[in-house]
Amino acid sequence: MKIITELDKMKTYAKIMRKENKLVGFIPTMGYFHEGHLSLIKTARKQADVVIVSIFVNPIQFGPKEDLEKYPRDIKRDEELAKTCGVDILFCPKNKDMYPEGFSTYVEVEGLTEKLCGKSRPTHFRGVTTVVMKLFEIIKPDIAYFGQKDAQQAFVIKKMIGDLNMDIAIKIMPIVREKDGLAMSSRNVYLTKSEKKDATLIHKALKLAEELITGGERDSKKIIKKMRELLLTSSIVSIDYVSIVDTRSLKEIPTIEGEVLIAIAAVIGKTRLIDNIIIKVTEDEKAYECEKSK
Ligand code: AMP
Repeated sequence: MKIITELDKMKTYAKIMRKENKLVGFIPTMGYFHEGHLSLIKTARKQADVVIVSIFVNPIQFGPKEDLEKYPRDIKRDEELAKTCGVDILFCPKNKDMYPEGFSTYVEVEGLTEKLCGKSRPTHFRGVTTVVMKLFEIIKPDIAYFGQKDAQQAFVIKKMIGDLNMDIAIKIMPIVREKDGLAMSSRNVYLTKSEKKDATLIHKALKLAEELITGGERDSKKIIKKMRELLLTSSIVSIDYVSIVDTRSLKEIPTIEGEVLIAIAAVIGKTRLIDNIIIKVTEDEKAYECEKSK
C-alpha cells in the first residue's frame, strides 16, 4: 500500500491507472476507521481494480462550535487496517494544500441541503460537496462508495453528480451496527459507558417505527410521536430531529407511502449522533421492504 500526501502525486498516479484502463474505486473518509469504513473498502476491493481511500478531516464541513479540533484521529492504526483490507493508495492530503490561502470556491447543492441535518448545520453540506468535488477532480474515480449511515450526505452527493453531469457511479452501502444496534461512528468514542447504553435508544426508535409501519400505521405524526417518547425515556438524550421524509426530495411526508427515509439526529450528553432506516411501502400497502437491521 502506498501513502500519498501530495495532490500532484495523487493526480499522476490516478492518471496512470486510468491510462491502464483500471477501474478505480474511491472511498472518501475522515479516518479513525471502524467496521463501517471497512465494509465500504472491502466492497470496493471486490468491485474495482484499484482501491483508493482518502483520509482528510475536512475543516470546512465543521461549524464554528463543532468538534473539528477534538475529532478522533489515529493515522497509524488506520494505515494498518487499510493495509489489511487491501487498499492500494491511502491518500492523506494536507490542509494547506486542499485550502491554500485565498481559497474561495464552493459547491452548493440547493434544496436537499437545507433539510434534516442542514437545519442545525447550515454550512455542513457545502463543506462536504466542496471537498468531495475536489477529491473527485484529483482522483477521477469510476466508482465512489458512501455509507447509508450519512444518508442525506449520500443523496446530496448523488444529486451533485447528476446535476453536474459527472461520470462517477455512486454506491451507497448499508449501515454497519454494533451488536446492540448502535450505528458505528468515529464519534462513538466520545461516549461514556452509560451514554453508549442510552444511545441505543436511537436504533430502538427506528425499529419501533418499522414495527408500527409493518403493523399498518401510515400516519407519520403518530409514528414520530412514539419515537420521540421512546428517545426521551433517557434524561441525557436531546432530540435534534425525528423526521420521516421522501427519499428523493427529503421533504416531510404526512402519510407513509413509497420509499421513505426515517431519520434521527440526537445529542447524547455532548455527542451528536445520527441514524436512519429506509422503508419501502409497496402499493398493496402490506408488502414492505426495509434495511435489514441487525
Ligand atoms: P466518515 O469518516 O465518518 O466521514 O465516513 C466515511 C464514509 O463511511 C461515509 O460515506 C460514511 O457514510 C461511511 N460510514 C460511516 N459510518 C458507517 C457505518 N456505520 N456503516 C456504513 N458506512 C458508514
